[in-house]
Amino acid sequence: MPRTILVSNRLPVSVQVERGVLDVRASSGGLASALRGVHADGESLWVGWPGDVSRLDDRQRAALAQRLTAMRIAPVYLTAPEISRYYDGFSNGVLWPLCHYLLDTVRVDAGRDFATYEEVNRRFADAVCAEWRPGDRIWVHDYQLFLVPGLLRRRLPDARIGFFLHIPFPSSEILRTLPWRDAILRGLLGADLVGFHTDTYAFHFGYATAQLLGLEPCTDAVRYEDRVVRFGSWPIGIDAEHYEALARAPEAEATAARIRQEAAGRTVVLGVDRLDYTKGVPRRLLAIERLLERWPPARTRLHFTQLAVPTRERVDAYARHRSEVQELVGRIDGQYGTATRAPVHLMHRSVSPRELAALYRAADVMLVTPLRDGMNLVAKEYVASRWDDRGVLVLSELAGAADELAEAILVNPYDLDGVAAAIQRAMQMPAEEQEARMRLLRARVRRGDVRSWAQRFLEDLAAPDPDPAPRTSAAARPSLAAALADVAAQRLLLLLDYDGTLVPIVAQPALGLPDARLKVLLRALAERHEVHLVTGRSRGSIEAMLGELPIALHAEHGLWSREGGVWVPEAAVDLSWRPAVEALLGQISRRTQASMLEIKDACLTWHYRGVEPQLARARLSELRHRLMRLPEHDRFEVLAGRKAIEIRPLGAHKGTLASKLATRFAPGAIVAAGDDTTDEQIFAALPPEALTIRVGEGRTAARFHAEDVLGLRTELERLA
Ligand code: UDP
Repeated sequence: MPRTILVSNRLPVSVQVERGVLDVRASSGGLASALRGVHADGESLWVGWPGDVSRLDDRQRAALAQRLTAMRIAPVYLTAPEISRYYDGFSNGVLWPLCHYLLDTVRVDAGRDFATYEEVNRRFADAVCAEWRPGDRIWVHDYQLFLVPGLLRRRLPDARIGFFLHIPFPSSEILRTLPWRDAILRGLLGADLVGFHTDTYAFHFGYATAQLLGLEPCTDAVRYEDRVVRFGSWPIGIDAEHYEALARAPEAEATAARIRQEAAGRTVVLGVDRLDYTKGVPRRLLAIERLLERWPPARTRLHFTQLAVPTRERVDAYARHRSEVQELVGRIDGQYGTATRAPVHLMHRSVSPRELAALYRAADVMLVTPLRDGMNLVAKEYVASRWDDRGVLVLSELAGAADELAEAILVNPYDLDGVAAAIQRAMQMPAEEQEARMRLLRARVRRGDVRSWAQRFLEDLAAPDPDPAPRTSAAARPSLAAALADVAAQRLLLLLDYDGTLVPIVAQPALGLPDARLKVLLRALAERHEVHLVTGRSRGSIEAMLGELPIALHAEHGLWSREGGVWVPEAAVDLSWRPAVEALLGQISRRTQASMLEIKDACLTWHYRGVEPQLARARLSELRHRLMRLPEHDRFEVLAGRKAIEIRPLGAHKGTLASKLATRFAPGAIVAAGDDTTDEQIFAALPPEALTIRVGEGRTAARFHAEDVLGLRTELERLA
């Protein structure tokens, strides 16, 4: 039976010391409740932070360790300074507001906290590695642990790793403001399956990998290094049955009746939120103020209770937020209250689920108007509690829950007039309309129960990859160093690509210049071997850069060769297709900002590296379509390179050249290195004994890998 290792910042228990006595209590919180079922049902282990244990003595620590082990929990202990930087500072001070689009709340001095964030993520990864056994599935949770999947992947290349984000994933335009955005994306890409609450968040993630990391644009799976990373939405639910049962209990009925009595015939309107600035409480209050101002009947009919649950009080932004809310409530009650009653009641505390269910039962109108919210469970709990099919939910369209709960009155929480009008409409909604909406909402909340959420995610995590690439861990790959050492003594044929192989890919091809050390290396190699540089560049470009060296140059994928000092064309090539293709490429290029058309002697290359990914995808599909419709379409070939598409005379590719050159040497004395699809044609054309080397990750026919340009150059030095 496969085991699931759950990994989250908080554990389902929290540890306290009360008057010297150790107390291990079930902790609340959506994530702990959602995963408790998985942990109780099956074979699992839970890795997480048990809370501050600095005040435990040695004996208590030993007792705690024993109790946690019995509960299948592996604790990650964190010191107070670590918590302050990793949790309060970076997770809640930077990532939380960023993912909720509140850029001006992001802490400006976040740099020092990222180092601790990284360090703590490493500690979580260490704890998982210490427990992992082949076959175990790992499921990492939430924004505190963004780097963990990537850290695990490096150490456990064959592990099944899932990640779920419980908060929104922001648009790439927001994410790009974060200096550590690449680390975070790469961390997530360590997983096999990345889950979000909504399709929009999943889309943002896929888009960010294209825009910020330059990966191929994708909708539900992205190829990264040598793996496929799937992603999508798995909206979390609640324990709907439990909420309904709580709300049906006689005790809830009695409390609800008391609340209604206190409201004395007025419409009971309710808000329930952690006192977090993402929940939109100040704007909600302003909307209520506007309603009272614009619609006088509200002054005698409205009874609004805001339950504000204390939260993260150590973070500055939260203390400021609390005073803002209190001031607004004071202002509205000062203006519209009477000697005996006030329109707004603020309860600054937390309540038990039992009490909460009674509040839900009593509320004629429920206001859930966050500025941004991953899901929002309160909205679903309200719906589940309304077994009488009454009540109206006013829901922010910026809460993940809005995707599922479309029969609520949806509002834009930034639009005060709109929210005020929605509250008025809710207060006046006829019973039949309430019932029609609530019935549909309830059915949906019941169907998407929390148990099915975890089950579906874990099943999808276990499913085989749609397009599996061979998974070879770095250690299992044959050693390039050893293979080169074996052949170093003989004279070799070296076929080397240039861009991405000998020098790193840069934004503008004109800037991909050779450095002095590369020239020294090529010169030294040429003294002992026959060196051929095989590039897609034009004759002029490669000659200007490397023409002084005693090596053979091949431009435009082998259409031109310079072995002695003069360029010789490969053979007579048919260029009758060029004018039509050039005109088409010119047109598309002019319509596409940041793209560039490179015109060579025979080939045409359209570069789209800097182009907005979605636009690039659309333009490429248009281009392919229109190329195929040209009357000349059987006289040229189209090849996709790295963020470039190349149109070439038929049959002119690096493979043709490679097979010709290969006849000059014994199969075992050929070494070829390249980094992209054009070089794959070399690998495919060479005899199987040749030492073929792929630089960087990716699907390849090459026998060996070099990690990057520098890695390859270091290996080549062995031959010089
Ligand atoms: N809740 C709570 N104590 C309270 C009031 C509410 O534990 O006094 C619970 C509520 O039942 C809900 C959760 O807190 O399950 C809030 O989840 P939600 O997704 O709405 O927002 P989050 O606080 O996770 O941002």
